[in-house]
Amino acid sequence: MAVTQARQNWLEGGVYDLIVIGGGINGAGVARDAAQRGMNVALLEKNDFSSGTTQAPTRLIHGGLRYLEHFEFSLVFESLQEREILLKIAPHLVKPLPFLIPIYKHSRRGVLLVNMGMLLYDMLSWNKSLPHYKPLSAKQVLEMEPGLDPDGLQGGVMYYDCQVDWPERLCLANALAARADGAYVRNYTEVIGFLGTAQSVEGVRVRERLTGREYELRSKLVVNAAGPWADAVTNLLTKEEPRRVLQTKGTHLVVPPFANAPKHAIYIEAKSDGRPYFVVPWVGTMLIGTTDDPYDENLDDVRPTEQEARYLLNEVNAIFPGAHLTTEDVQHTYTGLRGLPLQKGKSTGAVSRRSFVHDHEKEAGVRGLISIIGGKLTAYRSLAEEVVDHAQAKLKLPGVKPCRTRTTPLPGGDIADIAAYTSAESEAQARQYELQPSQIAHLIELYGTQHKDVLALVAATPALGVRLMKSRPDIAAEVAFAVEREMAVRLSDFFVRRSGLVTWDGRDEGLVRGVARIFAERLKWDTARTEAEIEAWRDERERLFTLQVPLG
Ligand code: FAD
Repeated sequence: MAVTQARQNWLEGGVYDLIVIGGGINGAGVARDAAQRGMNVALLEKNDFSSGTTQAPTRLIHGGLRYLEHFEFSLVFESLQEREILLKIAPHLVKPLPFLIPIYKHSRRGVLLVNMGMLLYDMLSWNKSLPHYKPLSAKQVLEMEPGLDPDGLQGGVMYYDCQVDWPERLCLANALAARADGAYVRNYTEVIGFLGTAQSVEGVRVRERLTGREYELRSKLVVNAAGPWADAVTNLLTKEEPRRVLQTKGTHLVVPPFANAPKHAIYIEAKSDGRPYFVVPWVGTMLIGTTDDPYDENLDDVRPTEQEARYLLNEVNAIFPGAHLTTEDVQHTYTGLRGLPLQKGKSTGAVSRRSFVHDHEKEAGVRGLISIIGGKLTAYRSLAEEVVDHAQAKLKLPGVKPCRTRTTPLPGGDIADIAAYTSAESEAQARQYELQPSQIAHLIELYGTQHKDVLALVAATPALGVRLMKSRPDIAAEVAFAVEREMAVRLSDFFVRRSGLVTWDGRDEGLVRGVARIFAERLKWDTARTEAEIEAWRDERERLFTLQVPLG
């Protein structure tokens, strides 16, 4: 049954094998793995895919050097293995990035300790395709990054990890792959209750947030992949569930490249409190982050604050004396919540970044529910594999295949050599579509081989080849593609999670109206609806992605 029915995207009155709550990277990864194995899957996300923590990380696919300090060797090893896998299955989204760790006299982690850590990091990734680390003298560090403060510099190390410019698209690729494999995949669909009893979960009750329609979906197993909201979801079953998640808030700032800005990603200890943080070259800007503070306010309204910005800017100014950054330099900012496993007595930085698969049947006798607690973007695939293995061990569904996500490219990721592919495609396609080669390269970075589907829209409607912003390569066809093929239904879906254009703008009246027009044509919005959507986007843009600096 499991295999034959999996082609239907909607099981009318039927029973899903798996319902996944939460369309962040973990939920999307689980849905993708389970659907690919042939299970009947529903993936339900209350906002848009990746609109929770997954749209707010430092955008690194990394082992996590810092976790070695906490003896989390297996987590680092697993993450480094996953880094290699992601380079292969999503080469358009995940790319190698050189890092530099400058070590100062005041650094808590000295030259010897950092080198020992790097040796271990290399050993734990013995089979990697990336270069090994290199110890550096102070002189070499300054030759590589002349903008760094030379005062007290003792030396440093250079090493490689990876960057995913758009984790939002990595998540989307998983959700869309699940849908292509037959899963019922819905955004703006909130789980508002469970079916069954407090001891036996038999499905969920959902509300479509854009229409208000409510309905029920039955299942053999429910996977709670709601990240920081995981406790809120289990509370829908019974208020007696113990708290399992610790939420901590992390803010990032995006600034234009400053004088002598680094060419490498810089990983450094904050001068004020010794916390490690990053300054990362990212899509032509500098990404600075992150903070890490306990958070127990409204999980659905997390905003960056001036205090967080000042902390990060002061640190960058201290280490790059030529930067002179002020809050006015912040072009974009975003904030997310870590949903960490609650570990009493540990500081936020020391809490494990491991994930835990919590089977409610084993621990509290509640059948039909498992919760994912914690995790890292980097290790989402192996976590998904673990969850689906666990589900299959419980359900013993006939005909379900073994996991294949380790080797199957994500949609658009079927590219052996990304550099060769980009150079071959960009020249030829630019001529054919009268675009710039840099625009084709941009499309490949976002869509991989599916950039051809975006270009097919230009072939059908040449007006869709027009640039959305003078200073950016993005074209109008990407808006149409987001609505027609990528389940975008609100303007923020496009500006934040399909294109990332919010990083550069999202306020300009002409741009917003142009994007809204393409949505309106395809989704049949009338004038009143279009104006309401524009207003909703303006509000979200100012509230969540603009630094809250008091006037005066
Ligand atoms: P989420 O992305 O939050 O997804 C949960 C989803 O559940 C949300 O979209 C939410 O809307 C939905 N939901 C909640 N309730 C319901 C409901 N009732 N019905 C339906 N849907 C619901 N990891 C790395 O590997 N590299 C990094 O560089 C990195 N940097 C980070 C920096 C910061 C500041 C933070 C906060 C995290 C960072 N991480 C990083 C960790 C990584 O981002 C997270 O582990 C990952 O995104 C968590 O994904 P998730 O799917 O568990 O949670």
